[in-house]
Amino acid sequence: MQDCFIGLGSNLGDKRKNLLKALQKIKQLKGIKIIKTSKIIQSMPLGGPKQPEFLNAVIKIRTRLSPSSLIRKLKKIETELGRKKTVRWGPRIIDLDILLYADRIIETKELTVPHPRIFERDFVIKPLLEVL
Ligand code: ADP
Ligand code: MG
Repeated sequence: MQDCFIGLGSNLGDKRKNLLKALQKIKQLKGIKIIKTSKIIQSMPLGGPKQPEFLNAVIKIRTRLSPSSLIRKLKKIETELGRKKTVRWGPRIIDLDILLYADRIIETKELTVPHPRIFERDFVIKPLLEVL
Protein backbone atom coordinates (compact mmCIF):
# COMPACT_ATOMS: atom_id res chain seq x y z
CA MET A 1 0.00 0.00 0.00
CA GLN A 2 1.31 3.44 -0.97
CA ASP A 3 0.36 6.91 0.20
CA CYS A 4 -0.61 9.18 -2.60
CA PHE A 5 -2.05 12.69 -2.98
CA ILE A 6 -4.65 13.61 -5.56
CA GLY A 7 -5.63 17.13 -6.59
CA LEU A 8 -9.23 17.82 -7.61
CA GLY A 9 -10.36 20.90 -9.51
CA SER A 10 -13.50 22.14 -11.24
CA ASN A 11 -14.49 25.39 -12.90
CA LEU A 12 -17.55 24.48 -14.97
CA GLY A 13 -21.15 23.73 -14.00
CA ASP A 14 -21.97 23.00 -10.36
CA LYS A 15 -18.35 22.95 -9.26
CA ARG A 16 -18.88 21.84 -5.67
CA LYS A 17 -21.16 19.03 -6.81
CA ASN A 18 -18.59 17.95 -9.41
CA LEU A 19 -15.90 17.69 -6.74
CA LEU A 20 -18.20 15.74 -4.42
CA LYS A 21 -19.24 13.37 -7.22
CA ALA A 22 -15.60 12.74 -8.10
CA LEU A 23 -14.85 12.05 -4.42
CA GLN A 24 -17.75 9.62 -4.28
CA LYS A 25 -16.45 7.78 -7.35
CA ILE A 26 -12.90 7.66 -6.02
CA LYS A 27 -14.26 6.25 -2.77
CA GLN A 28 -15.91 3.43 -4.74
CA LEU A 29 -12.73 2.38 -6.56
CA LYS A 30 -11.25 -0.95 -5.51
CA GLY A 31 -7.74 -0.74 -4.10
CA ILE A 32 -8.06 2.85 -2.87
CA LYS A 33 -8.82 4.16 0.57
CA ILE A 34 -9.33 7.87 1.22
CA ILE A 35 -7.39 8.84 4.33
CA LYS A 36 -7.94 12.62 4.49
CA THR A 37 -9.87 15.26 2.56
CA SER A 38 -8.92 18.94 2.54
CA LYS A 39 -11.35 21.84 2.64
CA ILE A 40 -12.57 23.02 -0.74
CA ILE A 41 -10.96 26.34 -1.67
CA GLN A 42 -11.65 28.84 -4.41
CA SER A 43 -8.90 29.98 -6.77
CA MET A 44 -8.35 32.18 -9.78
CA PRO A 45 -7.54 30.38 -13.04
CA LEU A 46 -3.90 30.59 -14.10
CA GLY A 47 -2.90 30.34 -17.72
CA GLY A 48 -5.12 29.29 -20.60
CA PRO A 49 -8.08 31.30 -21.90
CA LYS A 50 -10.24 33.65 -19.79
CA GLN A 51 -12.41 31.34 -17.69
CA PRO A 52 -14.41 31.00 -14.45
CA GLU A 53 -12.83 30.57 -11.00
CA PHE A 54 -11.94 27.11 -9.78
CA LEU A 55 -12.84 25.13 -6.73
CA ASN A 56 -9.96 22.93 -5.60
CA ALA A 57 -9.30 20.25 -3.02
CA VAL A 58 -6.66 17.63 -2.27
CA ILE A 59 -7.12 14.16 -0.84
CA LYS A 60 -4.68 11.73 0.69
CA ILE A 61 -5.29 8.15 -0.32
CA ARG A 62 -3.70 4.81 0.41
CA THR A 63 -3.62 2.55 -2.61
CA ARG A 64 -2.34 -0.71 -4.00
CA LEU A 65 -2.85 0.49 -7.58
CA SER A 66 0.24 1.29 -9.64
CA PRO A 67 0.60 4.93 -10.76
CA SER A 68 -0.43 4.10 -14.32
CA SER A 69 -3.44 2.09 -13.26
CA LEU A 70 -4.41 4.88 -10.84
CA ILE A 71 -4.21 7.59 -13.52
CA ARG A 72 -6.28 5.45 -15.89
CA LYS A 73 -9.02 5.12 -13.27
CA LEU A 74 -8.93 8.84 -12.54
CA LYS A 75 -9.20 9.66 -16.24
CA LYS A 76 -12.17 7.31 -16.49
CA ILE A 77 -13.89 9.21 -13.69
CA GLU A 78 -13.18 12.52 -15.49
CA THR A 79 -14.87 11.11 -18.58
CA GLU A 80 -17.82 9.70 -16.60
CA LEU A 81 -18.41 13.12 -15.08
CA GLY A 82 -18.63 14.54 -18.58
CA ARG A 83 -15.22 16.08 -19.11
CA LYS A 84 -14.56 16.80 -22.75
CA LYS A 85 -11.15 17.19 -24.32
CA THR A 86 -10.48 20.94 -24.60
CA VAL A 87 -7.49 23.21 -24.81
CA ARG A 88 -4.66 22.75 -22.33
CA TRP A 89 -5.41 24.71 -19.16
CA GLY A 90 -8.91 25.43 -20.46
CA PRO A 91 -12.09 25.26 -18.35
CA ARG A 92 -13.11 21.79 -17.14
CA ILE A 93 -15.92 20.05 -15.26
CA ILE A 94 -13.38 18.04 -13.34
CA ASP A 95 -9.62 17.68 -13.23
CA LEU A 96 -8.00 14.87 -11.26
CA ASP A 97 -4.22 14.97 -10.93
CA ILE A 98 -1.76 12.72 -9.16
CA LEU A 99 0.29 15.20 -7.14
CA LEU A 100 2.55 12.75 -5.29
CA TYR A 101 2.81 8.98 -5.34
CA ALA A 102 4.81 7.81 -2.32
CA ASP A 103 8.41 8.94 -2.91
CA ARG A 104 8.31 8.04 -6.60
CA ILE A 105 9.69 10.18 -9.40
CA ILE A 106 7.96 9.35 -12.65
CA GLU A 107 8.57 10.76 -16.13
CA THR A 108 6.55 8.92 -18.74
CA LYS A 109 4.40 10.04 -21.62
CA GLU A 110 1.23 9.80 -19.57
CA LEU A 111 2.55 10.77 -16.16
CA THR A 112 4.85 13.29 -14.50
CA VAL A 113 5.07 12.80 -10.74
CA PRO A 114 5.52 14.85 -8.58
CA HIS A 115 3.00 16.91 -10.56
CA PRO A 116 4.92 19.90 -11.99
CA ARG A 117 2.28 22.41 -10.83
CA ILE A 118 2.48 21.59 -7.12
CA PHE A 119 5.09 24.06 -6.07
CA GLU A 120 4.06 27.01 -8.18
CA ARG A 121 0.38 27.08 -7.33
CA ASP A 122 -1.27 28.12 -4.07
CA PHE A 123 -4.44 26.22 -4.83
CA VAL A 124 -2.48 22.99 -4.83
CA ILE A 125 0.02 23.59 -2.06
CA LYS A 126 -2.48 24.97 0.49
CA PRO A 127 -4.91 22.04 0.48
CA LEU A 128 -1.97 19.64 0.11
CA LEU A 129 -0.39 20.91 3.34
CA GLU A 130 -3.74 20.38 5.04
CA VAL A 131 -3.76 16.64 4.35
CA LEU A 132 -0.02 15.79 4.48
P1 ADP B 1 -3.63 19.67 -16.56
O1 ADP B 1 -4.12 18.83 -15.41
O2 ADP B 1 -2.12 19.86 -16.54
O3 ADP B 1 -4.35 20.95 -16.70
P2 ADP B 1 -4.94 17.72 -18.23
O4 ADP B 1 -5.79 17.39 -17.06
O5 ADP B 1 -5.61 18.11 -19.50
O6 ADP B 1 -3.90 18.87 -17.90
O7 ADP B 1 -3.99 16.47 -18.45
C1 ADP B 1 -3.31 16.28 -19.61
C2 ADP B 1 -2.46 15.01 -19.46
O8 ADP B 1 -1.53 15.14 -18.40
C3 ADP B 1 -3.22 13.75 -19.11
O9 ADP B 1 -3.59 13.06 -20.25
C4 ADP B 1 -2.21 12.94 -18.28
O10 ADP B 1 -1.80 11.76 -18.93
C5 ADP B 1 -1.04 13.86 -18.14
N1 ADP B 1 -0.42 13.85 -16.81
C6 ADP B 1 0.92 13.93 -16.63
N2 ADP B 1 1.23 13.89 -15.34
C7 ADP B 1 0.06 13.79 -14.66
C8 ADP B 1 -0.25 13.71 -13.28
N3 ADP B 1 0.70 13.71 -12.33
N4 ADP B 1 -1.56 13.63 -12.94
C9 ADP B 1 -2.51 13.65 -13.89
N5 ADP B 1 -2.27 13.72 -15.22
C10 ADP B 1 -1.00 13.79 -15.61
MG1 MG C 1 -5.18 17.03 -15.17
